[in-house]
Amino acid sequence: MSTLQEFPQDWQRALVLVAHPDDPEYGMAAAVAEWIAAGKHVSYVLATRGEAGIAGMAPTESGPLRTVEQANACAHVGVSDLVFLDHPDGRIQEGPALRRDLAREIRRVRPDVVLTLNHRDEWGPGRWNSADHRAVGRAVLDAVGDADNEWIFPELLEAGLPRHKTLWVAVMSPQPTHAQPVSAASIEKAVASLAEHARYLQALSDEPVVEQARAQVQMVAGSGAVAFELFG
Ligand SMILES: [Zn+2]
Repeated sequence: MSTLQEFPQDWQRALVLVAHPDDPEYGMAAAVAEWIAAGKHVSYVLATRGEAGIAGMAPTESGPLRTVEQANACAHVGVSDLVFLDHPDGRIQEGPALRRDLAREIRRVRPDVVLTLNHRDEWGPGRWNSADHRAVGRAVLDAVGDADNEWIFPELLEAGLPRHKTLWVAVMSPQPTHAQPVSAASIEKAVASLAEHARYLQALSDEPVVEQARAQVQMVAGSGAVAFELFG
C-alpha cells in the first residue's frame, strides 16, 4: 500500500454504482463506513437484485430475499439511500439503456465521487471477471461523462435533472492507484454488512457466514486500507 497515493478527502457526496447485491460489501463497505463516520453522504445504486445468484433458488424467490439482505447490509454502514435499477442479473447489457439509467442516478445524487467494481476483463490474476461486472463498470465510467453532457440523454434534462460533473471515479480494480485508510471499527461494520447476505453466503460454503465475511473483508481491507484505481 505504501506505493499508493492517498485517496482524496475534500469531497462530501459519494455514489456506489454496482451490478449486484453484495458487490459493495466485499471490502468497499469498509471505506463507506469510514466516510459516513466522517460525516460524508453515500448512496448505493444496484443494477440488479441478484436474482440469478443463488444455486437451487428460483429468481422469483431470491430477488426479493436479496433485496432485503442488501437493505440490512446497508444499515450496518449507515447507507439509507438504496436504489435498484432492475436490469436482469447475469445478462446486463452494456449500452445506451444502461448508461442512461446510470447517468440519471448520477444526476439525482450529484456525487463528487462515483465508486464501482472492477470493470476490467480479469477479476485478478488468472480469474475471468463476470459479464455483469465488466458491463456495469465500463458503463459507469461512460455514464459519468454522459451525466455531464446535456445532449447525450436530453430526456434527463426534460425530467428536471440538470447535468452534473463528478470529480473522481474510484474503481476496485486489480490496478489500484490510491488507498483509503480504514479503522478496525469500519472493518467490523463491513464484516457485519457482508454477513447480512446470509442466504447467498450459505449457498457458497458450509463455513459459518460471519467467518466467511471476515475472511473476505480482511482480504481487501485487512492491511488497514481499501485500494482503488482512481480516474479523474
Ligand atoms: Zn457481483
